[in-house]
Amino acid sequence: MIKKDGHTHTEFCPHGSGDKCEVMIQKAIKMGFQEYSITEHAPLPPQLSSNYNGTQAGLATASITLEQVPHYLDFATKLQQQYRSQIKINVGFEVDYFADYERWTREFLDQYGNQTQDNILSVHFMPGIDGKYWCLDYNTDDFEQGFKNLIAQPQNLFQKFLRLELSAAQANLGQYKPQRLGHLTLIRKYQDYFGLSQEFNADNQEIINKILMSLKQQDGQLDLNTAGLYKEYCNQVYPDDWISERAQKMSVPLVFGSDAHSILEVGH
Ligand SMILES: [Zn+2]
Ligand SMILES: [Zn+2]
Repeated sequence: MIKKDGHTHTEFCPHGSGDKCEVMIQKAIKMGFQEYSITEHAPLPPQLSSNYNGTQAGLATASITLEQVPHYLDFATKLQQQYRSQIKINVGFEVDYFADYERWTREFLDQYGNQTQDNILSVHFMPGIDGKYWCLDYNTDDFEQGFKNLIAQPQNLFQKFLRLELSAAQANLGQYKPQRLGHLTLIRKYQDYFGLSQEFNADNQEIINKILMSLKQQDGQLDLNTAGLYKEYCNQVYPDDWISERAQKMSVPLVFGSDAHSILEVGH
C-alpha cells in the first residue's frame, strides 16, 4: 500500500497557518510518504456572496480567489517537478459543492481540470435558518446562528447535510469532476459543543448507503480525514468508523487525508 497524504493545503489558504507548502512536502518525505496531493480550496462561485448570510470573514477566508488560480497552479506544478525524484506530488483543488451553482463549478473544472491530477469535492456551506448559505465549519457562534432551528434536532441537521453530500456524489460536474468526497461527516465538527454526538438514524444511514453506492458506480473515493480528531468539539475521524468499514466492503477506496493547513499537521 502506498503511503499517501491526499488532502493538504498551502500558504495560499487564507484561513491556514501560512506555513510553506514546500516545507510541508519536506516533512512528508521525512515521514516516508510516497505520494502527496496539494488540494487548495478552489475559488467560490461569485454568485454566492449575495446568497450568504454568515460571518463575512467566513466567506472571505474560505478559499483562494479566481485571480490567484493560475499563480497557484504554477506554484504547485513547480513543486511537483522539483520534488519528483523524492515523492509523487499531485496538483489539485478541494472544490466546494453547491447545489445552486453546479454549472459554475463545472465550468471552473472544465477550464482548469486538465492542469490537475487529484481533486476533492467538499461541502463547507449549507442553506441555514433563512434559506441563505452559512459556513458549516467557521466557528460555533456562526454555526449556531445559521442552524439554530436544526441544532435541537440533530438527525434533521444531519439529514440536510447528508442530502447535500448525496447531491455532490451524484452531480454532473463534467469530465474533471473530483473523484473523492472530502470529510463526509464534517457536520460533526461541533458535535460535542452542541450535543450532536449521536449515531445516524436509519434514514440517514440509508442516505449514506446511497452516497457509497454512487461513489462505487463512478469509481469514486472517500477522504479518510483525520482533521476532526484534533478539533476540540469533534474528536473523531471523518467519516464514522462504520462508514469506512462499509466503504471497504463495497470496494470504495478510502484515501488518507490529513487536511493539513500547517507543517505540524502533515500526515497526522
Ligand atoms: Zn481549509
Ligand atoms: Zn475541507
